[in-house]
Amino acid sequence: MTTLMVPRAPKWHVHAACRNADREVDWIDAEPGSGAAVDCQETCRLCPVRLACAITALTNGESYGVWGGMDQADLEALRHSDAQIAA
Ligand code: SF4
Repeated sequence: MTTLMVPRAPKWHVHAACRNADREVDWIDAEPGSGAAVDCQETCRLCPVRLACAITALTNGESYGVWGGMDQADLEALRHSDAQIAA
């Protein structure tokens, strides 16, 4: 028997500002500095779970898209900084 593993959204995602955001905006493939990334970051600015989102992205090593108001370049810069994220 094969078990299909479907990733579940974290609990905090029910409060995410992007949850009902425009589906035309591509959160995963938004290139750093692009109009799409800026649109996403604008939504993140008022998101009540922004910190949880950022911590999730950093602890899971997310490399693409916009998370916690940070684009791919921001995430990469933080990863290469001296910042330590406690899991
Ligand atoms: S911080 Fe941005 S990407 Fe993260 S849940 Fe909120 S709106 Fe979505």
